[in-house]
Amino acid sequence: MTDPLAPPLLDAQGRRMTYLRLSITDRCNFRCNYCSPASWGGKRDMLDARELARITSVFASMGIRRVRLTGGEPLIRPDILDITRNIAALPGIQHLAITTNASFLAPLAVPLREAGVTQLNLSLDTLSPETFRRISRQGDFDNILRGIDAAAGAGYASLKLNAVVMRGVNDGEVPALVAYAHARGLTPRFIELMPFGQGTPVPTAELIERLQASGLPLEPEPEEASDAASLTSGPARYWRAPGGRVGFISPLTQNFCGGCNRVRVASNGDLRSCLGGRAQAPLHQLIRGGASDVELAVAIRRALGDKPDGHRFTEPGNGATLLSMMGIGG
Ligand code: SF4
Repeated sequence: MTDPLAPPLLDAQGRRMTYLRLSITDRCNFRCNYCSPASWGGKRDMLDARELARITSVFASMGIRRVRLTGGEPLIRPDILDITRNIAALPGIQHLAITTNASFLAPLAVPLREAGVTQLNLSLDTLSPETFRRISRQGDFDNILRGIDAAAGAGYASLKLNAVVMRGVNDGEVPALVAYAHARGLTPRFIELMPFGQGTPVPTAELIERLQASGLPLEPEPEEASDAASLTSGPARYWRAPGGRVGFISPLTQNFCGGCNRVRVASNGDLRSCLGGRAQAPLHQLIRGGASDVELAVAIRRALGDKPDGHRFTEPGNGATLLSMMGIGG
């Protein structure tokens, strides 16, 4: 009989899973209007640092090589350095990334790199304090800028600056965000707004045309070069500009589900085989109930046997909710 703890980890479509997105909290110090309800306070974190490492070690033995910590805001957890140290030390884990709003990052940028984090994705939608307040509804803008500068000087292998583009809100700032990122050695990436909260998306093709019309020469990178240079094969497609690369993530207009290599664990410990799917394996409950690593691996494989071929967000009535996105980690 095949060992359930041995690679490969395949889903129902035969796609090989190598990338785990691990939501470590559904709490956040911001209330961005495209991401969280204004009144959302979050819940208690369900998985402690030891349980997060246990779950990740099971995935690592099955072939997961890249882990991204998401939230909520991951750096809100006081045990973030323990979490990262434990996961980075696991055999098989080659890349450990964090997606963060950067507001707690200034004092943590160097300690996180020393704890084994290889990549940071920093969320910054605007360079205007007024627009920031309009989007995030709370939070200190200067702390974010300090956090980004600290990360830029901390020696990370890869730093990305992610902006969700909303028509009439920040779409006019895209050239300025490219210049801001390139001046700090970051790769800017522009994300089509998903249909969960407020705001109107701007299709990637329109954004590229507008950037070129603003005087920024952009040339598409071959996909192989994008993957090799980006450390992680993900949904972004990259273009070259004089100051560096520019990435675009287009879940609405360029569905990338065919190349999916990812699986998610929500902050309550439920496995979600797909962003657009339902909870499929209560890993936290299984751990608390004394499940062995083999039993966890069997539950994970069973859940992936039900993974859909892609999301259906663009079809009427199929959007996820903001509350579910806070826990799943986007
Ligand atoms: S929506 Fe589902 S299938 Fe598509 S990339 Fe995300 S996890 Fe993979």
